[in-house]
Amino acid sequence: MPHFGTNELKRYDVIIVGAGPAGCSCAFELRKHGKRVLLLDKHDFPRHKPCAGGITIKALDQLPIDISHLIQHCSYEMVFRFDKHRKVELKNEMGSCIMVIREDFDNYFFNETLKTGTHFKKVNKIKSIEYDSDKVFLYADDVRYESSYLIGADGANSIVRKLTTELSYKNPVYAFEGLVPKTEENKKIKTEFIFNDRGYAWIFPKENHFNVGIGNLINNKNSIKTRKKDLYDFVYSRFKTENIENITGFPIGTEGLDYISLIDKIFLVGDAAGLSESLLGEGIYNAIVSGKYAAKSIIKSEQEDRYDAKYFYNSFLKKITNELHLYKKASKLLYGYPKISYFLMKLGLGKKFMDGYSEGKTLTEILKKRKLLPNY
Ligand SMILES: Cc1cc2nc3c(=O)[nH]c(=O)nc-3n(C[C@H](O)[C@H](O)[C@H](O)COP(=O)(O)OP(=O)(O)OC[C@H]3O[C@@H](n4cnc5c(N)ncnc54)[C@H](O)[C@@H]3O)c2cc1C
Repeated sequence: MPHFGTNELKRYDVIIVGAGPAGCSCAFELRKHGKRVLLLDKHDFPRHKPCAGGITIKALDQLPIDISHLIQHCSYEMVFRFDKHRKVELKNEMGSCIMVIREDFDNYFFNETLKTGTHFKKVNKIKSIEYDSDKVFLYADDVRYESSYLIGADGANSIVRKLTTELSYKNPVYAFEGLVPKTEENKKIKTEFIFNDRGYAWIFPKENHFNVGIGNLINNKNSIKTRKKDLYDFVYSRFKTENIENITGFPIGTEGLDYISLIDKIFLVGDAAGLSESLLGEGIYNAIVSGKYAAKSIIKSEQEDRYDAKYFYNSFLKKITNELHLYKKASKLLYGYPKISYFLMKLGLGKKFMDGYSEGKTLTEILKKRKLLPNY
């Protein structure tokens, strides 16, 4: 008999809320093992997601799909500006990251995920989530869904997080992004990060435009909230134009430094779990790997009777959150002591990072010379 007075009941092995990179990565891995997977999202695809579309080599290496045809630019050269006079220019012939249009990337990943046999349903409102020792029950619109596991991959404003955990974002980092058309005068501008009293800004080259943005990754109660006007001021200072197209803003989930799962059946991944790093705001890598390892944890718990999936997922999270703490330390140095950071970058640290990123290394691998991801 249907519960909650609803007239539909849907049963799956795993239900994933959110069809961004974290959700698709999770679905992909689960389908390799024949699990019945349902992806729920509040949008049909393609849909816009505020993002600069920079994908690091380590993220590319973890993707289950080939996205070569979506690459709009490869960053062989990068400029880090600390003020009007101080900048560090870095090069690597392999390139430290690639640039895509985020809508295109998500749409392609989503459609490739559906080809694996993953089911998809657009939902308007997730009303409640309940669970017992065996099953999770999710009630959305007029439908009751039932699964063995529920994955919250619904981004920085995650409803799964709000309904099932104590994890809350106290000082959410907010960033604005927009597009500046490429012209004869500006077309040579390289990939840039600019550190200023508002936090950090970026210029990411694409084929016909630059993605420009600004945000504040120092998330304490005294930090200045980013405004749209900051983006206009920054773009004017760099491009001498007020012509910025398609401006959108969104929080970046960076507050999962101590997140662990307390419920064996429900795992948060990606920005829902606050796994973006707080140095330069990279979130796509951790979204992909956390989605993948949430799935691997479910599979591994079935193969090894001794431990539940939560045990494996929390072991993975420990490694990722240790790395987030490393990023946090680096971020405090970069934004708290920009002059010292400039000299450190100039005297070799910058090259070490550029080379490490270009080789597809994580921060742990660059600084601690230790592999980040578990061997399963
Ligand atoms: C301005 C900006 C620029 C950024 N630039 C970069 C960058 O260049 N490189 C990088 O690595 N990271 C960048 N990030 C961070 C990156 O965008 C995120 O870390 C990444 O998108 C997280 O992926 P995700 O799959 O966890 O969540 P998301 O990509 O946010 O996907 C969540 C999905 O869940 C769906 N959803 C949300 N709520 C619900 C609900 N209630 N019910 C159903 N579905 C729901 C959404 O529609 C969406 O499809 C940037 C972030 C911002 C804000």
